[in-house]
Amino acid sequence: MAKTYSIFGAGAAGLYTAWRLLNGQSKLTKFSAKQLKKGDVLELYDWGNYDFTKRHPGSRAPGARICTWHYNNDKTHSYVELGGMRYSFWNRIPTKQFPDPNNGLAPGHRVVTAVISLLGLDKYSVPFNVTDNQLFYLRSRNFYLNGITSNTPAPYAVNNFGASTTPDQGFTIVQDLATTKPWADFTRRDWCNFYQNGRITAQLPESSVFQRGDYLKDIGYWNLLYDQLGAEGYDYAADGNGYSSNVINTHAGVSFNINNEFTPGSQYRTLSIGYSGMFNALFEEIVKLTKSKGIEFRYHPNTRLHSILGKGGKALFTYAHRDNPNIAAGTREADAAWMAMPRAAIDLVAQATRFRTPAKGEVDVLNHEKVSLYLEATIQQPSYKVGMFFDQPWWSPDVDNPAPYPAQVVGYTITPDTISQLRSQKYPAAALKAMLTMIDVPYTSAGDMVKAIEDITEQALTIAQVKQLTAQSRNDTIGPSVSNSPIRMVVYFGNNATSQKKKPVYGILASYDDEDNTAFWRELELGPKRQREIPSSQDTQPLDGPRVVPKRMVKMLRKMLAELHYGPNTDYSAVPEPLESAYMDWSLPPFNAGYHEWAPHYDIGDVQRKIRKPSQLIDGADADIFIVGEAYSNDQAWVEGAYCTSESVLNDFFGIEPIIDNKAYPFICPEESAHSAADDGDLDKILRKIDPRRQSQEPEEAL
Ligand SMILES: Cc1cc2nc3c(=O)[nH]c(=O)nc-3n(C[C@H](O)[C@H](O)[C@H](O)COP(=O)(O)OP(=O)(O)OC[C@H]3O[C@@H](n4cnc5c(N)ncnc54)[C@H](O)[C@@H]3O)c2cc1C
Repeated sequence: MAKTYSIFGAGAAGLYTAWRLLNGQSKLTKFSAKQLKKGDVLELYDWGNYDFTKRHPGSRAPGARICTWHYNNDKTHSYVELGGMRYSFWNRIPTKQFPDPNNGLAPGHRVVTAVISLLGLDKYSVPFNVTDNQLFYLRSRNFYLNGITSNTPAPYAVNNFGASTTPDQGFTIVQDLATTKPWADFTRRDWCNFYQNGRITAQLPESSVFQRGDYLKDIGYWNLLYDQLGAEGYDYAADGNGYSSNVINTHAGVSFNINNEFTPGSQYRTLSIGYSGMFNALFEEIVKLTKSKGIEFRYHPNTRLHSILGKGGKALFTYAHRDNPNIAAGTREADAAWMAMPRAAIDLVAQATRFRTPAKGEVDVLNHEKVSLYLEATIQQPSYKVGMFFDQPWWSPDVDNPAPYPAQVVGYTITPDTISQLRSQKYPAAALKAMLTMIDVPYTSAGDMVKAIEDITEQALTIAQVKQLTAQSRNDTIGPSVSNSPIRMVVYFGNNATSQKKKPVYGILASYDDEDNTAFWRELELGPKRQREIPSSQDTQPLDGPRVVPKRMVKMLRKMLAELHYGPNTDYSAVPEPLESAYMDWSLPPFNAGYHEWAPHYDIGDVQRKIRKPSQLIDGADADIFIVGEAYSNDQAWVEGAYCTSESVLNDFFGIEPIIDNKAYPFICPEESAHSAADDGDLDKILRKIDPRRQSQEPEEAL
C-alpha cells in the first residue's frame, strides 16, 4: 500500500529531511518498508510561502530563518543577509594541523559543507572573513581591539586590570575554572560529555557563590559570569561580545562551547549567490528526485499544521490556512510526520491539540507532561536585523575623507586562486610554497601577511612582489563593529553584486541585535500617529518578508551609526540617507526567536535523543511523529543543527546511511556521553593534580 510522509516546515530541517528521504540509501532490510518508493506521497507544508522556483514563487527568499535580501529585490544587485548568513567550513583535505579531517578535532560544520558540495554549490562558496581588529563604541568611547592596552584600557572598572585586555578575556577566565585540558583538544564527543559531567575544577574562595565540584549543567551562565567577573567585568564581556544572547542565563557548560566557538582553524564561508541559494537548490532537487522516482510530491505553502495526535503508530493531524491560521480547515493522516519547526511553532500546535479529546487508540504526544518539560529545555532568543543600502561605502577606510573611526573591512586572504594567479605571474617558488600553509587565514593588514610569508621563507619580498601579492589577496572582511547602543553589531557586506555592470550599491546590517534590544526597535516601527493594529501574537512579519524601515527608525539608526564611526554626539547627518532599508524581527511568530540555547538543569543529551521522537517519553506509546530542527540540536543557532537532527532521525528510525563518516562526529549527543562513574574518577584525578593533598576518598559532599 502506498504510504504518505508529511513534513511540516520548509526551512532548513524540513527541506533537508525531504531531500534525504529521497536520496538516502538504506542497506538494512528491517527498514526497507520505511523507504519511499514509487507511488508513495511526500508532502511538504509551510505556514509561509517562499520564492523557491519560477513554478513555485513566493513572498520572500527561501530558507525560513535564512532570508537573503537584494537591493530593489533584484538578484543581480548587492544583498545583505537578514537571517542566517554563514557556515563554518569543514576542510576535507588533510592539512598539517588536521591530518585526519574525519577525526573529532577538525573544525567546521560537516553536514552543511557536505550538502553544499552535493548540491553543486561549491563554486559559490566564498570566505566570510571576520576582522581581528574590531571597532568598538562602548560607553561613548570609540576604539579598536588592537588599541586596548594598560595605558588605554576599555572604559570599564574591571578588577585585576581586566579592562586592559580584550572583552572575551572574561569568557576565558570563567572557562579556565572548569578544565585543565586545552579547549582546542575537545572533540564533539568530549563536549557532549562535558555538558553532562563538566564541573568547576578550580579552588574558589569562600566568597564565591559557585564552588569546586559544582556541575556546570546546574549553573546559569549569567549567574556564573557575574559571580566571577563582578558587575563591571560582566558588563565589559557582555557589551564587547556583541551577541547579548551569549551572556544570558543559559546552561553554563553549553555556553562554554558557544563562547569558545572561534577556535583556531575555524573558517567562515558563505555563498556568493546569497545563503538562501542553498534552499532554492534543495527544493529543486526535491522536485527532481520525486519526479524521477515516481513519488508524488505535494507542496502546500500557506498551510500550517494545526494540531497532531498519534494513532496506531501514525499521525492524525489537522491543518489550517494562512488567512485563518487558528481554525482547522481539514484532517489528514500520515504514516510518518516531521515537525521541522522551532519551539514556539511547536507550542502553538500543542495548544490547538489540547482542545482535541483523543479517541481510543489516539495519543496526545505534545501535551504529555514529560514532553512539555523537555520542550521547555531550550530558551528562545529574540533577534532583529536591519539592512541598509547606500550609494557609497562611507564606513570604509579607503574612501575619500574617511570617517574618524572607519570599520575594519579591509583584509587579505590567500586562497588557492591567489596562488595560481601569482604562479602564472612567475612569483618566487619559495613564497608560493609558504602560502600553501596560509590558505584562508584572514589578515587585517598586508604587513602581517607579508611578515608571515617572510618568516617561513626567511627571505624578504621586493616592493613589487608585495604589491602583486596585496592586489591578488585583498579580500575584505565583514567587520563586525560592536556597540553597546541598541544597534549592537554592524556587519558590512559592501558591493557583493553577482553582476558588476550596474551602478554599485553597498549594503550593511545597520543593526544586528538580540534579546531585549529588539524591543527598542519595535516601538520605532510604526511611526507617528499610528496605533498598533495587528496584535504581535498574530504579526507574522518574518513570513511576509523584509519590511520597509520607517523614517524615524532610519534617523535613530543613522544617529547610532554616526556615533560609532564619527564619535560621541555626532549629528545623524554624518551618515548619508540610505537608498533602501528593511528589517526582519525574528522575535515574531511563528519563530519567536532567532535562535535557541539550552537551559540549565537539564540533561541536554537525553533531551536531544528523546525529543526527536517524543512518544519515546510516554510509556506504552509509539507514534512516528518526529521533531527536527535547530531548536533541540547540538549546534543551536546554526543550520548545521537543523541538518544534524534531521539526519539523526533518518539514520536511527529509517535506517538511512549517514551522509558523512560520523564516527567522530555524532549528529546529536550520543547515549555514552551520559553520566558514568569513570567521569567522576577523571575529575578526581584532575583535582588531585591541581591539589596533591586531596585524598581520593574525600567525601562527595566536599566536592
Ligand atoms: C538573525 C539570525 C542569524 C543567524 N545566523 C546564522 C548563521 O550565520 N549561520 C547559520 O548556520 N545559522 C544562522 N542562524 C540560524 C539558522 O537560521 C537556523 O538555525 C535555521 O535556519 C533553523 O532551521 P529550522 O529548519 O530548524 O527552522 P526554521 O528555519 O525556523 O524553519 C521552520 C519552518 O517551519 C514553518 N512553520 C512553523 N510552524 C508551522 C506549522 N504549524 N506548520 C507548517 N509550517 C510551520 C515556518 O514557516 C518555517 O518555514 C541565524 C538565525 C537568525 C534568525
